[in-house]
Amino acid sequence: MLTGIQIAFVGGDARQLEVIQKLSELDAAVRLMGFDNLQHPLGGVVKTAFSPEGFSQADAVILPAVGSDDSGKVESIFTSEELVLTDDHIAALPKHAKVYTGMAKAYLKSICANHAITLIELFERDDVAIYNSIPTAEGAIMMAIQNTDFTIHGSQSMVLGIGRTGLTLARTLQGLGAKVKTGVRKPEHYARAAEMGFTPFYLRDLQEHAAGVDLLFNTIPAMVVTAQIIANIPHRALIIDLASKPGGTDFRFAEKRGVKALLAPGLPGIVAPKTAGRIIAQTLAELLQEDERNGRNP
Ligand code: NAP
Repeated sequence: MLTGIQIAFVGGDARQLEVIQKLSELDAAVRLMGFDNLQHPLGGVVKTAFSPEGFSQADAVILPAVGSDDSGKVESIFTSEELVLTDDHIAALPKHAKVYTGMAKAYLKSICANHAITLIELFERDDVAIYNSIPTAEGAIMMAIQNTDFTIHGSQSMVLGIGRTGLTLARTLQGLGAKVKTGVRKPEHYARAAEMGFTPFYLRDLQEHAAGVDLLFNTIPAMVVTAQIIANIPHRALIIDLASKPGGTDFRFAEKRGVKALLAPGLPGIVAPKTAGRIIAQTLAELLQEDERNGRNP
């Protein structure tokens, strides 16, 4: 249980509702900042102004999936008020407090570091990334269906990178009856892909393998789908780039050549906010309870 633990939520989207519910069920004292438009706050949850004073009692601050932008702006679908997280907010936190987010930009990292406040990026955790790969793969499949006039079954699909997202996606495509090629750079990934029944190839040979592709999914956060590769893929092909912005595709050249290429960020929050929220909620609940057991929170 989280009895007596003060938690401040700042902004967010539908995912945050799952987190609020879970932590409130665990008896944390939850204060919501930037939730003016939330019609039915949960019982026992208090809405409060977004101010440094509001942070002064917090044991934990929970920010949205992308903590803030590089000027401190925190996104919220629950208010029209502009929420800007400043150095003053972080300075007001008790020294033992922790700030939790999905991923942090340099600004947030820097203001937390300035005051020696621990910042935890949940999406960096393997367990969260693996669970998140499920709605991500489903979202990628949804986009493929919406943007093609052929079935995934029987298609020549390609997944670049078989990390946490790529592996789930490749397996899901295979389950739908696609012929799946996977582009990797390490022999152990090549071996794993072969063991799982994919057709592996090394990324250095991408140009040659791209020639017959119908669906190309990239999960590598580096420029891999270059103009040279795009020049070699059929016009009917669809590129879906899942890697974090700016993706790993030369979108300018794809447009010029008339090959459809889509950058698809934030799919879990778009296609399955409830599931994505539960993934965050479960992990946060475990982390906060572990802190509580270890006596790090007073
Ligand atoms: P991951 O587990 O680290 O996998 C990344 C894969 O890319 C690994 O197989 C890695 O292989 C490969 N890779 C990285 N840099 C490379 C390079 N320069 N050249 C060749 N291969 C390289 O990461 P993940 O969790 O699957 O996430 C992948 C990307 O998707 C990230 O950018 C993440 O932010 C994004 N993402 C997007 C969504 C969405 O909704 N669109 C959802 C979740 C994640 P090695 O082991 O050889 O390095």
